[in-house]
Amino acid sequence: MFDLTDRDITEAHDIRLIGAPFDGTVSFRPGARFGPAAIRAASDGLETWSPLLEADLEDVRYADAGDLELPMGNVGQALALIGEAVRDCLQDGAMPFVLGGEHLVSLPAIEAVHAMCPDMVLVQLDAHADQRDEYLGVKLSHACVMRRVAEFLGQEHIRQLGIRSGTRDEYQLMRDYRTLTTFRDDDVQALREWIGSRPVYLTLDLDVFDPAAMPGTGTPEPGGIDWWTFQHFLQQLADCEFVGMDVVELAPGLDASGCSAVLAAKCVREMLLLAGR
Ligand code: MN
Ligand code: MN
Repeated sequence: MFDLTDRDITEAHDIRLIGAPFDGTVSFRPGARFGPAAIRAASDGLETWSPLLEADLEDVRYADAGDLELPMGNVGQALALIGEAVRDCLQDGAMPFVLGGEHLVSLPAIEAVHAMCPDMVLVQLDAHADQRDEYLGVKLSHACVMRRVAEFLGQEHIRQLGIRSGTRDEYQLMRDYRTLTTFRDDDVQALREWIGSRPVYLTLDLDVFDPAAMPGTGTPEPGGIDWWTFQHFLQQLADCEFVGMDVVELAPGLDASGCSAVLAAKCVREMLLLAGR
């Protein structure tokens, strides 16, 4: 069994978990602010050994920085605090691993990592394009996070998998820049070749999973992937160099069974193992 809270940042570590319990801009059902705490609680019931990756969390030097205290009503200040925590982490030589929170929490994290690794590429797993220029007149929304990232990273450095919801304009944009790809083996191989030796930031919006597996999320979309597809995908990227990760959009209160939080915690375990190789 493992328990994420067992390791605090006074221990030497290569990967730092940073809780960002923020859901101030969600468009449908709130509750992602309770995500980090639910992931930690569910982690307690999981094994440290991953049969598919053949790796053990006991061998990974990670630490949990706990949750940031974020002002829910002040988006700018919340994002600034997340960015600060991620920069501190990078300065300490650890890879940041942000636990959301809604998807907007990825923006300051990716910004901070990009400032240090300007040649990084971004791989996004999500049901939604998140490529809107604005949502209800707001530019800083979880529905716009990839568009904001593209403003400094460039669309040509982004690849998106699992997307099955977006506006006509978003689909046109993704087609123009060829950011869209799929979980098919040949596509993932092409993705791996496209990455090459460049450092990777992996952002996992949990609604990429089918709602049958992940009902505990604010904006569920039918037609998502299952656990095995996700794990097989990670396996194919096992030799990449990861410089940042996040797992976002778990809204545990929307799934009374608790299974969504378990799935999220298992994703965190597999990603820790992937980054900690
Ligand atoms: Mn998203
Ligand atoms: Mn989404």
